[in-house]
Amino acid sequence: MLIDARSLPDGSRITADVVIVGSGAAGLALAGEFAGSALTVCLLESGGEESSPEVNALSAGQGRLHGPDGVQLPCDDYLVESRERSLGGTLNLWGGKCAELDGLDFEEREWIAHSGWPLDKAELQPCYARACALLGIAPFDARQRAAVPVVALNGERRFTTALRTFSDLTGKLAGEKFHRYKYAVANQPNVSTYLHANVLDLVLDEAGQALRHVVFGTLDGRRHVAQGRVFVLAAGGLENPRLLLNADSQQRGGLGNAHDQVGRCFAGHGLLRFLAGNDQPPAVVEYAPGAAQRLGLYLDKDPRAVQGIFTLSRAAQRRDALAGFSATLEPVVQQDGKDYSPVYFSIEQQPDRESRLSLGAQRDALGLRRLVMDWRFNAADRDSFARAVALFAAELEQAGIGRLHYDADALRFVEVLETARHHIGATRMSDDPREGVVDRDCRVHGTANLYVAGASVFPTSGLANPTLTIVALALRLADRLKSQLRERGGVATSREWAGAA
Ligand SMILES: Cc1cc2nc3c(=O)[nH]c(=O)nc-3n(C[C@H](O)[C@H](O)[C@H](O)COP(=O)(O)OP(=O)(O)OC[C@H]3O[C@@H](n4cnc5c(N)ncnc54)[C@H](O)[C@@H]3O)c2cc1C
Repeated sequence: MLIDARSLPDGSRITADVVIVGSGAAGLALAGEFAGSALTVCLLESGGEESSPEVNALSAGQGRLHGPDGVQLPCDDYLVESRERSLGGTLNLWGGKCAELDGLDFEEREWIAHSGWPLDKAELQPCYARACALLGIAPFDARQRAAVPVVALNGERRFTTALRTFSDLTGKLAGEKFHRYKYAVANQPNVSTYLHANVLDLVLDEAGQALRHVVFGTLDGRRHVAQGRVFVLAAGGLENPRLLLNADSQQRGGLGNAHDQVGRCFAGHGLLRFLAGNDQPPAVVEYAPGAAQRLGLYLDKDPRAVQGIFTLSRAAQRRDALAGFSATLEPVVQQDGKDYSPVYFSIEQQPDRESRLSLGAQRDALGLRRLVMDWRFNAADRDSFARAVALFAAELEQAGIGRLHYDADALRFVEVLETARHHIGATRMSDDPREGVVDRDCRVHGTANLYVAGASVFPTSGLANPTLTIVALALRLADRLKSQLRERGGVATSREWAGAA
């Protein structure tokens, strides 16, 4: 059932078994898992059915991108442009590119500080399969791998092509599929979806350990309360930490922040492009005669066929103490009788406590303090990138494929960095509350019934585009919540009262 929160009488109180904040990839996947069950769900979404500049302005803040050499670039616009506040969230904008994290991404890598997830890939694998089904793509299993051949650059030594597939569950494609999906979840009889419902505060009970209710409000000034048995923040990788930090009236520094972890280790993926228009020499592969054809990338220029995304193998990452790295060879162009591919590089950003989100003094139209984002790419990122790119160039030559032309001195880094719209790590998962914000079940440390869904819980980013993993983790969380609620028994009836808040 879709309800416009602006139509509720001021001071309404809503109850449900599960209260979910945000209707993006995570929130919809989670709510969808409860569809048809005896449990009631209240989905609170800041936006309406369509995109609105006034609503998206609630995401504004102050952003600074820091390079390893002290260079700083303002990036305020990124905070608004890299996400969407309306039904379906940023799925309305995303490109649909899906990939699983690698098994190594979950492991503790002694050469990367703060690496290691409290779960391994095997544990997540069944949820990855369900996430693929939900997003309408083939599972990344042996059959799919066999169907799309892997191209090794130099005898499988260091670089092989990576599998990426595209979901068409996106608002960017014309067609009804995404439209049907988001409305199907939002309109389930046991799911009440409130639009224009902005969560403003998270309120604990007297003991200070369980969340009693969230306060939500509308831009026209009404305030309401949603009460639940469990609560999930699925407001996106930037807004999840912002909500926890803003909820500081009962606990200093905000919820889950007893050890100053909320907002720390913010990471994304950096794409390094060397474009002529950027005052940089382009990075290109100049192929040896016939090598481009032998390599056989971008057959038929179909992005769903073998793509030229060469990723660094696990063995090479271990041996050379490198973070995740890939080089994407774009479709071949011919010039003066020679074959070339423009290249761009993607890097995994290593967790850095100083790369962080915090609250500034400015407030949004609803009174929430706005974000300050100090997003740092540090010397370890630059060092890992520089060594990986040199290895890639050497492998290309040794394999007789061609030469990589790039200007190593031009690696001033943040100036050529295109930041992917992936918001990772700022409520990271760890069994140790001194190292993270949520535990392995995505429950906020120090609370009994508050959970987080989204890329903000990833302890490390890996190289894969995050949404498939966001959805897989949301499905896993739904399983946990269902059994927890069943164990405790009793089912709340979704209700609204006016004037009782
Ligand atoms: C242009 C673009 C292209 C992308 N391409 C890809 C890609 O190809 N592959 C990939 O994996 N990822 C891609 N991404 C990233 C991907 O879109 C996100 O990782 C994903 O959508 C995040 O899902 P989420 O549910 O965590 O957050 P969101 O989808 O951002 O949803 C959060 C929801 O919470 C709501 N909300 C926020 N605050 C509040 C509040 N206080 N109260 C109530 N509701 C609130 C928001 O309105 C929003 O609807 C892309 C992103 C962009 C912008």
